[in-house]
Amino acid sequence: MWQAGMRLVERLQEAGHIAYFAGGCVRDRLLGHESHDIDIATTATPEEVQRLFPHATGLHGKVFGVVRVPMGDSSFEVATFRRDIGTRDGRHPDRVVVARPAEDAYRRDFTINALFYDPLAERLIDYVGGQLDLEERKIRAVGNPSQRFREDKLRLLRAVRFAANLGFAIEPETWLALQAQAATVSLVSIERIRDELDRIWSGAAPALGLDLLDRSGLLARLLPEVSALHGVEQPKEFHPEGDVFVHTRLLLERLHHAPLPLAWSALLHDVGKPITQKTDPSGRIRFFEHETVGARMAASILSRLRQPNHLIEAVVAMVANHMAFKDAKQMRPATLKRLLARDTFPMELELHRIDCLACHGDLSIYEFLRTKLEELPPSVISPPRLLTGHDLIALGLVPGPRLGSLLESIREAQLNGQIRTREQALALAELLIRSSPTTPRPDTGPT
Ligand code: ATP
Ligand code: MG
Repeated sequence: MWQAGMRLVERLQEAGHIAYFAGGCVRDRLLGHESHDIDIATTATPEEVQRLFPHATGLHGKVFGVVRVPMGDSSFEVATFRRDIGTRDGRHPDRVVVARPAEDAYRRDFTINALFYDPLAERLIDYVGGQLDLEERKIRAVGNPSQRFREDKLRLLRAVRFAANLGFAIEPETWLALQAQAATVSLVSIERIRDELDRIWSGAAPALGLDLLDRSGLLARLLPEVSALHGVEQPKEFHPEGDVFVHTRLLLERLHHAPLPLAWSALLHDVGKPITQKTDPSGRIRFFEHETVGARMAASILSRLRQPNHLIEAVVAMVANHMAFKDAKQMRPATLKRLLARDTFPMELELHRIDCLACHGDLSIYEFLRTKLEELPPSVISPPRLLTGHDLIALGLVPGPRLGSLLESIREAQLNGQIRTREQALALAELLIRSSPTTPRPDTGPT
């Protein structure tokens, strides 16, 4: 991609234009990270770019001056150096006009994102001191931080996301401005909020992200249910680490580039605790049904964030099931196999591991389950069913709830190892049908 990008810049420069790599890809290159895309900034107008590259396509309409140019196996966003004017909605510029390269740097959010690089001359163009901030690992707004956050509220979240994912500190003035304006984050569309939160939780250091969101006041706005975990006391003998917020944070500390369902489940697994907290007569703090309440809350939080259904379903299932793990060693074979067969089981096992490490540190159930998963082949955990509904109908049962529960009983016996063959299953079915007088048997007339 770098080579193709260089060819593109070369063609623009040969045609007499200034053209640089710009923004994120320059930052990533200096950090030694792989870039997923390369943006190019140039003095050429979109029309001039289109003339040089007939395969280019307008991206956001020519008003924004951005064109997508295919080159080699990649494609590049080529933008005319520009300046933003006005921001009435606190999110988008009212107008964009062609400008000098320095002005294009000044419109960018953070100094580390405002660098240009000429790949042919191998020269860094730094109008904002971004190189030093990269070296000192700092997130600093370009220009006046208060004004920059006022122009675009998404920058509040981007600051936290870059700080967490890169492990950078937010420079004090930028941080003060961020805190002062945290409450206005609600002007950002829910989809953009969701995307930024996703990138924080599934990034390199979600615990750092949680701290920054929390201390800035953004968490209380975006995820008040998680803020509410502060100060929720737990029994000391099981949770020597502290309150539910501290515990949740310790789970996130163990996550690095986690899949989204795992990351969100870790964040939300105990979100039902504040509402369910009770002290029993012996004085012990209890959280009855917190996993069920928490699963419902997770569903509502993630729906509010317009998360896709597959993510919501996975997180709800993981939160709802997280307490089942404590009984794993006492489970009957069928219950254990059903646990192991869950789609989300590998992530649930990891959630269980970090949940344990975030309190008592006892991993014996985790080790037990990991061994079971290794020992038991899929054909044992989830063998093909011995009977279908058709078999039961052939035995005279009518379709309905009774048929479903019979099939389940037969499955249970199979998973428990009580029956192994189709013949045994049929015999059990007959027995169960006969032993239940309420079962309608339409084919049996008086004999
Ligand atoms: P990544 O792609 O990893 O999120 P990036 O820095 O490339 O990081 P993009 O969203 O792709 O981020 O934006 C490209 C560049 O555009 C940024 O590097 C920054 O210079 C500028 N930019 C993006 N969003 C904003 C914003 N909200 N305000 C100001 N400048 C922005
Ligand atoms: Mg980018």
